[in-house]
Amino acid sequence: MLGTILYGPRDVRCEEVPEPKIVNPTDAIIRLSATCICGSDLWPFRGLNDVKSPLAMGHEYCGIVEEVGSAVTTVRPGQFVVGSFCISDNTCPHCRFGFQSSCQQREFMTGAQAPLARVPLADGTLVATPELPPGDLIPSLLATSDVLGTGWYSADAARVRPGSTVVVVGDGAVGLMGVLAANQMGAGRVIAMSRHKTRQDLALEFGATDIVSERGDKGVARIKELTKGIGADSVLECVGTRESMTQAIQCARPGAMIGYVGVPHGVELDGQALFFSQTGMLGGPAPVRRFLPHLMDLVLGRKIEPGKVFDLTLPLADVAEGYRAMDERRAIKTLLRV
Ligand SMILES: [Zn+2]
Repeated sequence: MLGTILYGPRDVRCEEVPEPKIVNPTDAIIRLSATCICGSDLWPFRGLNDVKSPLAMGHEYCGIVEEVGSAVTTVRPGQFVVGSFCISDNTCPHCRFGFQSSCQQREFMTGAQAPLARVPLADGTLVATPELPPGDLIPSLLATSDVLGTGWYSADAARVRPGSTVVVVGDGAVGLMGVLAANQMGAGRVIAMSRHKTRQDLALEFGATDIVSERGDKGVARIKELTKGIGADSVLECVGTRESMTQAIQCARPGAMIGYVGVPHGVELDGQALFFSQTGMLGGPAPVRRFLPHLMDLVLGRKIEPGKVFDLTLPLADVAEGYRAMDERRAIKTLLRV
C-alpha cells in the first residue's frame, strides 16, 4: 500500500510501505475513510525536530475496523471508529482522571497518512458510531480525532463558562477549533487574534464575536481596550512560541485560566511576571479521548461542522504538496483522500 514517510527537512514522500498487521492482541487495523496533515507534522517537516530515522507520518484518523486482535472486545470489524492521536487504555489512574493523553500505557499514533493503520490499545482508544455515518460527515468526524479535540481541550482547560470573555491566540486550525469550542461552551464573547482575512472569516463563522489583527504589545492593548481594561476570563494559547505565550498571559485578567495547547518551542517564562499575573495554566497534549463521545455526537447531530477547517483536499499521492501548502500558509489544513 501507499504510506507517508518523512525522511528529513522538506523531504516527505508517498511511497510503497508494508501493510500494517496485528502485533499485539489489543490492536485493531482500520481502513481509513480519510486522513489529514496536522500543524504539528510541520515541526519535523521544517527541520525543527530532529529526524533520526524515517518517520511514518499521520496521527489523525477515522475509518472502518478491518480486523481486531484476540483481546479486543469493544469494537468489531465493520464498525466506523474515531480514535485520538494519543493511544490510551482508558482504565489507568490518569485515564480515569480524564487525562488519557498521559496514560500509563501512552503511545503516540503514527502511520495514519495511509489507507490502513494499526491502532494499539483499541478498546481504550477507539470510539465507534452507532451506525455507518453519511459520507459528508467524514471530514468533521476526522477533525474530532485531534484538531477539534485539541481546540476543545484548550477551551476546557481555560475553563470557558457561559458568558465568559475568551481570547484565542493563534489562527491556525487548532485556534479556529478553539473558537468553535468556546462558542459551543456558551462564551459571551470570543475574541480571535488573527491577521489573515480567510482565517478571520472562518473564525467569525465558527462563532468569534471580535477579531483583533494586532499582535504583541499592540494586540494586548487592543484586548484591554475591548474589555474595559480588565482582560479575558479565559485565554486559549494555540501557537506555542514565546511571543504567543507572553501575549496569552498578558491578555488574561487576574484569576483567569490559560489553556495552552501549542507545542512550546523555545518558550521561557519569567517567574516574577507569571507570579504577579495571577493566572492559572493548564495545557499539554489534549486528552481527546475524554471529549470524543461528546464531539462525535455533536457532529452526528449536525450541531457543529468542524470539517470546514479543511480548505484543501488532495489525494494521498500528493501528500508532499499538502505539507508545502500548509508550511507556506496557503492552506489552513489539508485533508487527504485515501
Ligand atoms: Zn491509561
